[in-house]
Amino acid sequence: MNDQEEPILADFLKLVRSMRVINGIGTMTFLGGNRVSDEVIESMKYVNDIFLNMQDLSRTAGEYIARRIGVDAACITAGAASGTVLGIAALIYLRGGGKYTRDILEQGRKMLIAVQKPHRTEFRDLIYIAGPELREFGDTDIVTEESMRKVIEDNPGRILAIMHYAFEPMPGTLPLESVLRIAHSYGIPVIVDAAAELPPKESLTRYYKMGSDIVLFSGGKMLGGLSNSGLMIGRKEIIDAVHEIGPLNEENTDEGTRIFIGRPMKVSKETIVSTVAAIENFLRIDEDAWLSRIIKMADTIAEMISGIDPDISARVVMPQWNHPRPVNIPRVQVSFPQGIVAKEVSFRLRKFRIPIYTYCMEDKLYINPQCLEDDDIPLIIEGLSHALHSEKEETGWRN
Ligand SMILES: *Cc1c(COP(=O)(O)O)cnc(C)c1O
Repeated sequence: MNDQEEPILADFLKLVRSMRVINGIGTMTFLGGNRVSDEVIESMKYVNDIFLNMQDLSRTAGEYIARRIGVDAACITAGAASGTVLGIAALIYLRGGGKYTRDILEQGRKMLIAVQKPHRTEFRDLIYIAGPELREFGDTDIVTEESMRKVIEDNPGRILAIMHYAFEPMPGTLPLESVLRIAHSYGIPVIVDAAAELPPKESLTRYYKMGSDIVLFSGGKMLGGLSNSGLMIGRKEIIDAVHEIGPLNEENTDEGTRIFIGRPMKVSKETIVSTVAAIENFLRIDEDAWLSRIIKMADTIAEMISGIDPDISARVVMPQWNHPRPVNIPRVQVSFPQGIVAKEVSFRLRKFRIPIYTYCMEDKLYINPQCLEDDDIPLIIEGLSHALHSEKEETGWRN
């Protein structure tokens, strides 16, 4: 192999940058989550060159955040999905009297997690990883309090928790207030998946203050941390259990060392410290100013798109509950004349010189400005013009 053929890191890095896309959907894991601030990067460097006791770091970080936001306890996780598995595992552990027995996962398999039927999200299957089975209650379009009582009474002692997805305002579902009241009247804890419900800032503590037992957030969405980070807020007893069976603990028995269910959800010292830095940043954001900037950008995009072709109209709308969350961020809604299929346009945009990611709902195309920079706007307009007016073979299109 001669020098020229040898792969060099600089080429790889260049290649990676050439893979960049324009993200008009939002803080999506499949597009890289988000970009983090300099403070977040700096905080990783700050902890990178030291070794420390990771259990202590994890507990210290959790206590810092809990004090900072005024909740009982918190823990940095490897994401909201990890938090779902760890939270359920912690509840099984607590049920077993706080002993991580050999058969803890078998015990978990005998338990059920109840979920309202309309909360049929792609994240539900995580429940099975921790052991329990999923039991739905209610109908697809309406969930009554009676249906929730019935699933609990039909399965005495087997409902480990209620998993609640904070997708307000989802029509027909039982609101969290009712879920908490009913669950707690039977002594059953409630886990709230609020992964993408920020902003507003106050939602960081709102679900917990309502009485939820565990609340989960993604670190890699609006909190502004790494894509593989998250925050779990909860009652102290539960968070302590999470630390016990989490990724950073192990147990020495007569038969040797044993790790726990949390191990595949490991967080590094850099993840823990940078998530604290991200949360600190998030708490300092001027939300009104941030939202004004987003609205201004949405207005500009809508105006420029409307200028492409008189048959195409674009306007700024507030999204319905079923759009990529959070739904308090306005979107650019693009409507096409008869004969132009939004999905086809969206598909073509992803084949543009710099791929542009948008999403479609009911034959309209949407752009979420949340992750866009001003420089992306002319490229979106160029891409959209191409998508509409050119054949695929033309320059600017990749096949
Ligand atoms: C993003 C998301 C998750 C997964 O969160 P990670 O932090 O990526 O693990 C879970 N639930 C909902 C509702 C989400 O939006």
